[in-house]
Amino acid sequence: NLYNMVQDLKGNIRVYCRIRPAFSVGARSTIDFIGEDGSLVIVDPLKRQRDGRRVFQFDRVFDPTATQDAVFKDTQPLIRSVMDGYNVCIFAYGQTGSGKTYTMCGPSGGSTKDMGINYLALNDLFQMSNKRKDIITYDIYVQMVEIYNEQIRSCTSENGLSLPDATVHSVKSTADVLNLMKLGELNRHVSSTAINNRSSRSHSVLTIHVHGNDLSGSILRSCLHLVDLAGSERVDKSEVTGDRLKEAQYINKSLSCLGDVITALAQKNSHIPYRNSKLTLLLQDSLGGHAKTLMFAHLSPEDDSFGETISTLKFAQRVS
Ligand code: ADP
Ligand code: MG
Repeated sequence: NLYNMVQDLKGNIRVYCRIRPAFSVGARSTIDFIGEDGSLVIVDPLKRQRDGRRVFQFDRVFDPTATQDAVFKDTQPLIRSVMDGYNVCIFAYGQTGSGKTYTMCGPSGGSTKDMGINYLALNDLFQMSNKRKDIITYDIYVQMVEIYNEQIRSCTSENGLSLPDATVHSVKSTADVLNLMKLGELNRHVSSTAINNRSSRSHSVLTIHVHGNDLSGSILRSCLHLVDLAGSERVDKSEVTGDRLKEAQYINKSLSCLGDVITALAQKNSHIPYRNSKLTLLLQDSLGGHAKTLMFAHLSPEDDSFGETISTLKFAQRVS
């Protein structure tokens, strides 16, 4: 199809930017201009009057009013390509509070309104599978894992086995998925009472495996990884010690490894450093080759986030 042709011409890495609505009404924003063409102008709050503007370019920028459906609409072609045998990774990157979990899961509190990409993607895969059922039979399985301090845990099994033993669940409907997500949330919640605010300190990976069998007997195997990354904020080293420092170091290392891998792929290097982190190792089969990657760079519009906004924009620029 046309999307895949265009994708092949442009390479397999896309970067979208999404800006969260401001928490307080009428507050000043570091977002100066958002272009239809994916351009974004930000302004340094300390230099509003002079030379404080910088321009960045994305494949697409979603302003704070963009709905979950609008975001999904521009993600859907990528998700559908999984049904044609492509492996796909979608990442949510950004500082804590910038909207990563909102994009992937939906609003906090587990309401079924404004569901995010995880749910909408599975829903779409079920619909597609139903449409094609006369020519091809699909089976869909999901796995939920989190990576915390370079250790992989399954979110949907009691003892949190490490991959490849992480429980794989067969799902037949969106209701199955909702139940599973509740279980995953529950298990994450249990661990978050032990370590304060753990969910923003770990990478959470929802993997959807698609198995297809067509009438001629040929088999298709592909997967979609939906990754809510740990918060990218730099922690002030003078303030953190012990466990918090260790967490911060693991996060910095794994996010920079992810950046290295995507950059190496974009530059078509012969050596891709997958082995430098658990995350890139886990996703190895779905990063590079014919696989497709989409990174959402999330921004908090508030003035006091400007430093992190610049750092997120630099990361996004590096991988695009
Ligand atoms: P993160 O996962 O990056 O830490 P969250 O997704 O938890 O950030 O977002 C922080 C808060 O902002 C949450 O209360 C969330 O519901 C809200 N929020 C984030 N993005 C949006 C958005 N696009 N529209 C409305 N509310 C949002
Ligand atoms: Mg989050």
